[in-house]
Amino acid sequence: MSDTQIQPDLLNKKSFRWMDADAYLFDIDGTLLVTRDLVHWNALHQAMFEAYGVDTTIEGIAYHGKTDLGILRAAMERVGISGLTFDIKLPHALSVVCREVEAHKQWIRPEVCPAIPEVLERLRSSGKLLGVASGNLESVGWHKVQAAGLRDFFSFGCFIDQTEMRAGIFRQAVEEARKRLGENASVCFVGDTPEDVRAARQVNATIVAVCTGTFQSHELNCHEPDLCIGSCAELLV
Ligand SMILES: [Mg+2]
Repeated sequence: MSDTQIQPDLLNKKSFRWMDADAYLFDIDGTLLVTRDLVHWNALHQAMFEAYGVDTTIEGIAYHGKTDLGILRAAMERVGISGLTFDIKLPHALSVVCREVEAHKQWIRPEVCPAIPEVLERLRSSGKLLGVASGNLESVGWHKVQAAGLRDFFSFGCFIDQTEMRAGIFRQAVEEARKRLGENASVCFVGDTPEDVRAARQVNATIVAVCTGTFQSHELNCHEPDLCIGSCAELLV
């Protein structure tokens, strides 16, 4: 095969060496793990019921790639609750989400995505700093990671509690990594949605996109991640 026939994916792999960063920040849902239980789903439902008095679900909301806060905002906008009315009751809603997930955490049944433990072990044994950067609320995110048996790999996490936008979460994660490793430390994110790729670009970090969530390679590649792979198992070959 001549150079002109090489697929874009292969060109990416040639120029990007995934082990070169100093710190790695992993998204949770669709990247580290997939949950098929309804613990988080039901917690969002209960939060909307208690805080806003609305009996609705997140069914039909394009929630993949959205933060918890963004999911609630979209679901409430759909029933006509927005602006200040939404914002005033948001702290109550978020506290209900945390309370409900805490109360039902024993029912969280995460499926760990392919080769995640092996990739995390390789990074850890190479002295890399490992963290989580997720659109979950902090306590919810850690419950999932804990239930998946992955908690011990991570030194820190950045979540939606302090900032609504994913780029804000990613910015915090980069700052935290550089606080720990020095201001020149390089950071690589690993995520499964176009929002992850865009957020990494906004903070000038590299990103590996994985197709273990709901997005396929053509849906992620068009946002030009540094690498797009079917799953993290491809990092081990
Ligand atoms: Mg995700």
